[in-house]
Amino acid sequence: MKEKLMECGDLLEEVSLKCYNTFRVGGICKYLVSPRTDLELQKLIRYLKKEKISYFILGNGSNLIFSESYYDGVVILLKNFNQIMIKDTRVIAGAGVLMPRLAMLTIQENLTGFEWAIGIPGSVGGCIYNNAEAYKESTFDHLVEITLLTPDNEIKTMPSSAFSSGYRTSFFKENKDYIILKAVFQLECGNQKESLEIVNKRREKRLLSQPLEYPSAGSVFRNPSQENPSGKIIENLGLKGTRIGGAEISTKHANFIINKGNATSNDIRNLIELIHKEVKEKENIDLVMEQEYVGWD
Ligand SMILES: Cc1cc2nc3c(=O)[nH]c(=O)nc-3n(C[C@H](O)[C@H](O)[C@H](O)COP(=O)(O)OP(=O)(O)OC[C@H]3O[C@@H](n4cnc5c(N)ncnc54)[C@H](O)[C@@H]3O)c2cc1C
Repeated sequence: MKEKLMECGDLLEEVSLKCYNTFRVGGICKYLVSPRTDLELQKLIRYLKKEKISYFILGNGSNLIFSESYYDGVVILLKNFNQIMIKDTRVIAGAGVLMPRLAMLTIQENLTGFEWAIGIPGSVGGCIYNNAEAYKESTFDHLVEITLLTPDNEIKTMPSSAFSSGYRTSFFKENKDYIILKAVFQLECGNQKESLEIVNKRREKRLLSQPLEYPSAGSVFRNPSQENPSGKIIENLGLKGTRIGGAEISTKHANFIINKGNATSNDIRNLIELIHKEVKEKENIDLVMEQEYVGWD
């Protein structure tokens, strides 16, 4: 198996997943493979499916809670899919490109449209999957075309309109057998100075309102509505600062759980379940998770 995986990209063995997610938690995975080309990824998936080996596609790990269990399969990292090409106002970006890099690069090219993405530490693939959004703009708003690997292991390019999207969701969340390889975005001609002013203001605002000094995976729950954000609901119940082990409900933003240094995945999950139960019992609201559990039985 190891020899076969080595033919499909850069291979690491017995890897701590703590280094591959923004919460800094998780167990060991048997293999981590970073394919270098579409063809290597295609070959890898063909092999894994044939041998019935479980696998997981990892973006930047900024919306995940890995369990502490041993992952006896292959984590596939698309970090080598990191090319960006700009043609007039169209931007072609690989699935592994990080959104802040894409935002800064397009601003430098005097393009506008990605200012909202400056504070989102996700990859293009992960942001399409989640339809990541900020300041009332979302990934799908600018998305024109997606190149992907289909469940039949074919590489196809399709218009973004072929895929549904919504608040923190897309077709890909319900169809996990598709792998996003690259995307084309449509931006507009802009003004570098104005865009930089916007992103600097937003950076400052995030620093003041979010606990960015600690590992986290951003907002834990979706907002039931714009008027009734999860953070406010949790704060009003007096839950800010509640701690289980090394996990804490941030005192800065109640919809963030932070790792105070030695949190385990179980600490985080127990705290999430505590919030969910309190909100259900006291407010009769069934909060829906934004973050995703990976590797839990
Ligand atoms: C400090 C902080 C602030 C944040 N702020 C925001 C915010 O303002 N708005 C917002 O929407 N989110 C926010 N997030 C959450 C997160 O950044 C987004 O959800 C982002 O879209 C996750 O991307 P990722 O690459 O990290 O995906 P991952 O967490 O690695 O993966 C998420 C899911 O996407 C799938 N996936 C990843 N790549 C692919 C691919 N190429 N093909 C198919 N499936 C794929 C994975 O299998 C997994 O199921 C924040 C997170 C943090 C830590």
